[in-house]
Amino acid sequence: MATKAAEMRSQGIDVINFSVGEPDFNTPSHIINAAKKAMDDGFTKYTAGPGMIEFREAICEKLSRENSLNYSPTEILVSNGEKHSLFNACQALINPGDEVVVFSPYWVSFPEFVKLSDGFPVIVKTDSKNNFEPDFKDLKKKISPKIKCVIINSPSNPTGGVWRPESISRLLKIAKKFNWVVISDECYERLVYEGEFFSAEKLNRSEKIGASVVSCFSLSKTYAMTGWRIGYASGPKEIIEAMAKIQGQATSCANSISQKAGVVALTGDQKCVQRMRKKFLERRNHMLLLLDKLNNVICDKPKGAFYAFPNLNKYIGKRANKKIIKDTFDISDYILESSKVVTVPGDGFGAPGYIRLSYATNKKNISEGISRIKIALDNIK
Ligand code: PLP
Repeated sequence: MATKAAEMRSQGIDVINFSVGEPDFNTPSHIINAAKKAMDDGFTKYTAGPGMIEFREAICEKLSRENSLNYSPTEILVSNGEKHSLFNACQALINPGDEVVVFSPYWVSFPEFVKLSDGFPVIVKTDSKNNFEPDFKDLKKKISPKIKCVIINSPSNPTGGVWRPESISRLLKIAKKFNWVVISDECYERLVYEGEFFSAEKLNRSEKIGASVVSCFSLSKTYAMTGWRIGYASGPKEIIEAMAKIQGQATSCANSISQKAGVVALTGDQKCVQRMRKKFLERRNHMLLLLDKLNNVICDKPKGAFYAFPNLNKYIGKRANKKIIKDTFDISDYILESSKVVTVPGDGFGAPGYIRLSYATNKKNISEGISRIKIALDNIK
């Protein structure tokens, strides 16, 4: 979809893009200035493989301040974006033939990380009527001795769902019972609009569950730093060390300048995070209000991240431009061609009937984009 949209743009067509998975804001200036200073000061060399100690200490300070988690720098691995942290975790933990529980709708990379480690994703449903939390009955049916890990992601991309602490704890207890490692992707931890964010490891410790949890975090979404490629993982020392060995042979360390800037991001003024969160909340509410006016579209209120995940199932099997709409790939294609709006088909996230709309764009674009989608949908017969 993004490629098609780029082609259209290059032809001068006015395309509205709801597919972006990144904040549209620039990185806050105090973080940019820290990077400039790092270069001027000569921090342009390799760092320690797992990350410079100053940055790992800043991460420990952040984890203690915001997540009530005490870690030492030896339990932290800094990587080239959180995607790399997650990849390292899968490479370190999954052996050929192992199974890994992935909840659908899932971020597209989760099953691929598992397959790249020669494992098999076991897709377990979530309950859309229940905030996209795990369908524990489905999980129970799929439990097998081959399962080694479970990947969770709250707040979720693509649903925007934020799991209640009860569900996370229930899952942690199952993981403990069957000796699975929990890989918890918490990259949207600071973008929660309703209720509170619960870190899996915080619950694990406070409720003394004793599961093995590798938590993965990103600076990309919180500080609008997607291009800086900086993320980190915290977890049991032996797992972090195994991940560090794999990273050491693949990419050595993360970018030295981004690490220096990361120290300032994590330990500096956090007002920028609140400012961006407030903007996302306004945009979410604006988009929801407009989506509510569309015919035959149901959209639950996303509680976190920056995605709305409306259900367009009622349009499947109908006709648009004389063609039958078979799935959401067809819907997204049709919306792009007829209205010049880029959306992401839910089928790619294991969620037939849904499309993902990012509201990491300004309100004017949101108004224009949704009114174009309305015209497109009203022409489906
Ligand atoms: N996890 C989820 C759910 C994401 O949506 C993303 C980015 O889109 C990432 C991880 C990766 O973030 P990073 O930019 O730190 O690699």
